[in-house]
Amino acid sequence: MAEYTPMMQQYLAIKADYKDAFLFFRLGDFYEMFFEDAVQASNALEITLTSREGGIGERIPMCGVPYHAAQGYIEQLVNLGYKVAICEQTEDPKQAKGVVRREVVQLITPGTVMEGKSLLEKENNFLASISSFPDDTYGIALTDLTTGENRVTLLSKNIEDVFGEIYANGVKEVVVSSSLEEDIQKQIIERCNVTISFEDLNDINESFIMLVKQLDDEKLKVTFGRLLQYLIKTQKRSLSHLQPVKVYSVNQFMKIDFFSKRNLELTETIRGKGKKGSLLWLLDQTVTAMGGRLLKQWVDRPLLNKADIEARLNLVQTFLDQYFERLELRDLLKEVYDLERLAGRVAFGNVNAKDLIQLKKSLMQVPEIYKLVNDLKHPYAKSLSEKMDLCESLTHLLEQSIKENPPLSIKDGDIINDGYNETLDQYRYASRNGKTWIASLEKEEREKTGIKSLKIGYNRIFGYYIEVTKANLHLLPEGMYERKQTLANAERYITPELKEKETLILEAEEKSIQLEYDIFIDIREQVKEYIPRLQSLAKIIAELDVLQCFATVSEERHYCKPVFSKNEIFIRDGRHPVVEKVMNSQEYVPNDCLMKEGRSVLLITGPNMSGKSTYMRQVALTAILAQIGCFVPATEAVLPIYDQVFTRIGAADDLISGQSTFMVEMLEAKNAIVNATENSLILFDEIGRGTSTYDGMALAQAIIEYIHQHIGAHTLFSTHYHELTELENELTNLINVHVRAIEENEKVVFLHKIKEGAADQSYGIHVAQLAELPIKLINRAREILDKLEQNEQQPKTNVRLDHTPDTGQLSFFGEDRTVIKEALSISNKEKQLLDSIKEIDILDLTPIEALNKLYEIQKKLKS
Ligand code: ADP
Ligand code: MG
Repeated sequence: MAEYTPMMQQYLAIKADYKDAFLFFRLGDFYEMFFEDAVQASNALEITLTSREGGIGERIPMCGVPYHAAQGYIEQLVNLGYKVAICEQTEDPKQAKGVVRREVVQLITPGTVMEGKSLLEKENNFLASISSFPDDTYGIALTDLTTGENRVTLLSKNIEDVFGEIYANGVKEVVVSSSLEEDIQKQIIERCNVTISFEDLNDINESFIMLVKQLDDEKLKVTFGRLLQYLIKTQKRSLSHLQPVKVYSVNQFMKIDFFSKRNLELTETIRGKGKKGSLLWLLDQTVTAMGGRLLKQWVDRPLLNKADIEARLNLVQTFLDQYFERLELRDLLKEVYDLERLAGRVAFGNVNAKDLIQLKKSLMQVPEIYKLVNDLKHPYAKSLSEKMDLCESLTHLLEQSIKENPPLSIKDGDIINDGYNETLDQYRYASRNGKTWIASLEKEEREKTGIKSLKIGYNRIFGYYIEVTKANLHLLPEGMYERKQTLANAERYITPELKEKETLILEAEEKSIQLEYDIFIDIREQVKEYIPRLQSLAKIIAELDVLQCFATVSEERHYCKPVFSKNEIFIRDGRHPVVEKVMNSQEYVPNDCLMKEGRSVLLITGPNMSGKSTYMRQVALTAILAQIGCFVPATEAVLPIYDQVFTRIGAADDLISGQSTFMVEMLEAKNAIVNATENSLILFDEIGRGTSTYDGMALAQAIIEYIHQHIGAHTLFSTHYHELTELENELTNLINVHVRAIEENEKVVFLHKIKEGAADQSYGIHVAQLAELPIKLINRAREILDKLEQNEQQPKTNVRLDHTPDTGQLSFFGEDRTVIKEALSISNKEKQLLDSIKEIDILDLTPIEALNKLYEIQKKLKS
């Protein structure tokens, strides 16, 4: 039977271990791919698919990329969510007996890329592991291989929280055990849009016991261990830059679930999925990559501890008061390169001399930054400056050793300063000396021979030579000159003397290049020793950067410093930070907000497009800004410290395609209702829109009542059901507010101004008019509205607006509040049945068919 060639056998054996990756198989100057890999890669990368004889008599699909251009192709594949296994020749082909030995030296995956365009400077690149435990808890560990940051936490029971963490951290890849429930695996891939990888964690590699040992909880150990084990298996190299793992708890931070983050557009917009237009975009006045990444982390996790929040706010105030110091700090920070990622690349062994020069320049700013921050005489600033490690010995080392403008390559010399290494200096002296000698030889030879055009040149093949034009050949004395090369109109010669010097020069150059390389590697090893110190310095730089950023934004946009209260929110002249910026502050109409004992629920009515949604979001964003330690868009702000913020949008308003089903709306609502506490902030924006009027109204009312009686959270509830405004008479903590609009010449003008009391009409027809629907249609709509308003009593009696505690309204949510789902499915079923009855064409039925139909309907009702 035909067999594959030995090389293909080797390929197949290696590929068997990397089934879910593209195997880049090194063959000479190319990485080749075979079989299905080749077919797929040629498509994804738009490269030519060829084939090769594999020994079994049929041709094997093949495609390849040149070794020196591989980086770009690898990036492309990884960006598409694929993994790439790099398989190198691991013995010298000249020494090999039979097929050259090959091994996979690294697996590059979306969560483990170390370089390339996909790494955004102001974003972390997180790899996560998720472990599920028998007691229904989940562990999540996160690592950013580029910066070395490690975190781990346990979450209880709710898988939504797991997704929330994955989403909040912008995770690219998730590592799980192959025994994790399939349903969860599927959801991870679909909902979180990440690459999934498997690691069953049989044992933890010796070298990492230390990192895991600091964890005293078995579940944390397993979760973080899984991540480490995966890194070790895939990266196969020094990971000495990995930082001690931080155990955190989601309870340390304001909880903003997946839906709310999305709805509030904290770090990306709903439509574009990009940063532009988000709160993060508005805030980002950071000037370093480290600051940019930390800002995103802070926006994702507002604080709960008042002292911590106020420490940040006070330092922001100091930066506002000390304008020139802040400007200077910004200028200094601008010169600071990405220390964290640099440290990671040092550990990986892929920094060049240019990187080290950037490191040096960054470090040269540090003493000035230290002095500036220390001189602020602010306790928090002081605590930061005291922790700053100036790494002066490293600056010194780099100043001494690396040339100012080194080339990219570390293999061609010209990177180490004169005077740094004695042997190197000697080689250089020899080579320079030789060159001076050669330069003077030219002059000597010209004099000796009388040939004015005689010159000495150099090329790679023949080395140094004396060149004489054909016209002057007769002037050359016999004997001494040995002909090496003939050109069209000149001859090139060497002399024994010249050859001797050449050998000296070339030897010295070769040795000095080799020595420079060795010295560079040695310096790089020395820099490695500084990795933890650079990382902790980077953290402080990042923090300073974010705080100056808050001051810069607060000043530019005229924000005020918030103060905190127990249970009351009062915002004077609040604005929506992003809408205000986009539309230009002059046009934006500021609004107040007051919620406290006796008015914890604001029911907001007003026409479409009047600004209800904007108003609600601005309150939430103000609270979030305050709790991350930034000033807020208002002239005065007193706020409680909210433990959680929930934002829910009625399905009809939900901009995300494919998800605007009523079920999603209810699931989102459930999550808020189940988890909110009296210290939470709830925004319900036209909840109940996604179903029929009475259904929706009834649900909306029941939700309001439930929050009012059982939760007590500050709640902003906008609705288009005007009937609900009557609740003010029954619910002691509910207050009606409305967004004013006025009518001018039968047209509506939006004032965007929030006023107390209920709106009087919904202005829907006016909005239709604004949208320039045909005037005939508008007039007809007015007629219909008049008729409906005459019959108004009727719908009202159908909806239960009277509030008696045990009418069963509250039990809508039942013991277990998820009953709402069932309630909905019943009403849907009934509706379907009613529809199907309506559709029966009775005249077309025989009596027996009619009986059958009736039987069917009854059966459905009973089921
Ligand atoms: P609603 O939810 O009542 O339908 P929105 O909050 O979506 O209305 O606001 C509609 C538009 O009105 C916004 O896109 C914005 O351009 C504008 N708007 C909202 N609030 C204000 C305000 N306070 N000042 C100026 N313009 C506003
Ligand atoms: Mg709205």
